[in-house]
Amino acid sequence: SADKERANNVAKIKVAVRKRPLNKKEIAKKEEDIITIDSNFLTVFERKLKVDLTEYVEKHEFFFDAVLDEDVSNDEVYAETVEPIVPLIFQKTKATCFAYGQTGSGKTYTMQPLPLKASQDILRLMYRTYQSQGFQLYVSFFEIYGGKLFDLLNDRKKLFMREDGKQQVCIVGLQEYRVFEVETIKQFIEKGNATRSTGTTGANEESSRSHAILQLVIKRSADGSESKPARVIGKLSFIDLAGSERGADTTDNDKQTRIEGAEINKSLLALKECIRALDNDQGHIPFRGSKLTEVLRDSFVGDSRTVMISCISPSSGSCEHTLNTLRYADRVK
Ligand code: ADP
Ligand code: MG
Repeated sequence: SADKERANNVAKIKVAVRKRPLNKKEIAKKEEDIITIDSNFLTVFERKLKVDLTEYVEKHEFFFDAVLDEDVSNDEVYAETVEPIVPLIFQKTKATCFAYGQTGSGKTYTMQPLPLKASQDILRLMYRTYQSQGFQLYVSFFEIYGGKLFDLLNDRKKLFMREDGKQQVCIVGLQEYRVFEVETIKQFIEKGNATRSTGTTGANEESSRSHAILQLVIKRSADGSESKPARVIGKLSFIDLAGSERGADTTDNDKQTRIEGAEINKSLLALKECIRALDNDQGHIPFRGSKLTEVLRDSFVGDSRTVMISCISPSSGSCEHTLNTLRYADRVK
């Protein structure tokens, strides 16, 4: 059918990179923009010193499925990444969109509008194209912090994961809300984001150590009626990952910080391995490597789609982190 054909045309894995503009702080510190973009190519100009302390510039070239420059709007980011996969979730696809990058690189700025725009499109499809077929839309929002799960739509209630042996993951006690209009989704996103930053150390500091996971789930009962129990058809997950630099916090003086750093490091490595396994169509996908990948288990099996948006700062002061992010994205591709 036309639907199936369209589904086959959407890449299983898409890796995009988004560069943000220099911010006031970076400009004040006289930091320079070291990134140039030419269609799908991106070049990093790294300033280095020779042994005799003379300076030279090393060029690092990368190629990705999409490279989004600083003048690209959130609407364009949506069109380039998530929009094509939205119709597929009515055809039993499980899709996941990740925002990866160091703290301050633009992950949350990039991620926040995406579920809103996606639910707009989902509801439009539900009410127009699939009118009277009995599809239902649900939303949930939780975070993984230090390897533990917390419900962001239910006062950070602690949650537990259970597997049913049939590759289905169940998060016990996770609140799932049925939604009928975009406005409700908007309120849930705002509520969840506010709940996310309740730490003592300040909003960005705290949220940079957790993975925030917002899921839009399409359900339908066997006969499409409201009276029978609805079962999951497709899923679209949005994941605002912990700051990638946090994975290096494994030698910090503070024990808690070290434990969290080790957990973040483990989960980002496991994520990379899972996506690579998906790409190679390997039968075995190493979910068990971390809480993050275990939670996403059912989104990696069957007809899945993965979009990775790697966010980078343009500034010379972030060169090392930027190269780390680009190398990570390059390995996933
Ligand atoms: P992260 O979630 O990766 O820590 P944020 O999304 O909070 O980073 O972004 C850090 C700051 O940079 C915020 O003030 C945000 O508004 C700004 N910012 C990020 N990306 C962009 C962009 N593409 N255009 C303009 N401002 C941006
Ligand atoms: Mg953030």
